[in-house]
Amino acid sequence: MAVSHPGAHYDVAVIGLGAMGSAALFHLARRSVRAIGIEQFAIGHTRGSSHGETRAIRLGYFEHPSYVPLVRAAYEGWYELERLTGERVLTKTGVLEIGKPGSAIVAGSLSASREHGLEHELLDRAGIARRFPQFTLPDGYEAVWQPDGGFLRPELANMLHQEQARRAGAQIVENCRVRGIEPADGGIRIVTDSGTIHAGSVIVAAGAWMGELVPELKPKLTLARQVACWFEPRRAQSTELGALPVFIIDSEEDIAYGFPDIGSGFKCASHHDSGIWDSADDARQDAGPADEKRMRDFLEAYLPDAAGSLKTMSTCIYTKTPDEDFVVDLHPSDSRIIVASPCSGHGFKFASVLGEVLADLAIEGATRRDISRFRIDRRSLLPA
Ligand SMILES: Cc1cc2nc3c(=O)[nH]c(=O)nc-3n(C[C@H](O)[C@H](O)[C@H](O)COP(=O)(O)OP(=O)(O)OC[C@H]3O[C@@H](n4cnc5c(N)ncnc54)[C@H](O)[C@@H]3O)c2cc1C
Repeated sequence: MAVSHPGAHYDVAVIGLGAMGSAALFHLARRSVRAIGIEQFAIGHTRGSSHGETRAIRLGYFEHPSYVPLVRAAYEGWYELERLTGERVLTKTGVLEIGKPGSAIVAGSLSASREHGLEHELLDRAGIARRFPQFTLPDGYEAVWQPDGGFLRPELANMLHQEQARRAGAQIVENCRVRGIEPADGGIRIVTDSGTIHAGSVIVAAGAWMGELVPELKPKLTLARQVACWFEPRRAQSTELGALPVFIIDSEEDIAYGFPDIGSGFKCASHHDSGIWDSADDARQDAGPADEKRMRDFLEAYLPDAAGSLKTMSTCIYTKTPDEDFVVDLHPSDSRIIVASPCSGHGFKFASVLGEVLADLAIEGATRRDISRFRIDRRSLLPA
């Protein structure tokens, strides 16, 4: 659809309607702000970072304990979206984080859980085997069990945020690429393939295309190729919802994670990159036999019941910062430009609360949430 209001003026424009942009648009619209969301492809496309059926959510955040308050708020945000829509976005299955004692994931999860008094258990190898006999683990492995963990439905969540935004009065334009943003007439001029839009401020939630619109960030962001595989399980009882929790295994060979089968087969993926793209436009649905072999070898070692015939594969992009923390901040040279790059492979779960944060930043220039970890002027990004 072409831009229906060339030259029109909005309070806030949101560039990109993936996870973050859709949530931001919803939070803007519900505050009666004149808002427009602009997406370069058809809504629900599979060229970015938000497709693939499931995303893990967990409270005891192994990446760093300081994320925990924000994840708590994100849970509340997802529950609120469920109340508003009557849809189920979040399914609790518990999360099992497996590794050697002291491995980054086990130690990190324990530390976050202890610091924030979160419900969790530390299971030794025998304890894991009693509860989840489908895993075949080397001697000495242990796991942190978090009962609050589970998975989100990304396609549904994005669609619900967009739908709610529309209902509250937001405009949505798809198949319209933003080519540039520049200060103009006391606001921001947004140049698109189909016309120009003016807005008081702009939220850039462009995912893997962030570097095209905020070129200062481009050299700092790595676009990592990620492939998820779906297998027909050999023993359906081992991977079905209720029997298998969301899990992650930090092993010598790989860091890999998986989800219970919710109807499309057993999904798993490696957290390590399988290639780097120079530009997000280069990314393709190009998964092949090497991607299957990598996951199959892993499953044969750790979860053989799951390693039946391959059903499908999907390629996706991690947009990674050097320290793997997010970027959510005002642009250092123009506070009317809000930069939202919460990926590094772990951002989806936060969309419900970051949408609120982005709306705060666009409307008020500040937020009550602690996002100091995501500053754009930190040492690894754009130091002042
Ligand atoms: C394989 C994989 C597994 C993951 N697993 C998890 C997980 O288990 N848990 C978790 O919390 N997170 C996970 N993540 C991370 C999470 O999915 C991302 O953090 C999140 O989807 C990023 O959302 P986004 O809105 O920044 O990007 P996207 O959802 O990609 O949205 C960006 C949008 O901007 C649009 N756009 C870009 N440039 C323009 C332009 N110039 N004009 C108009 N539109 C534009 C794009 O087309 C795109 O639709 C995973 C990511 C991947 C790839």
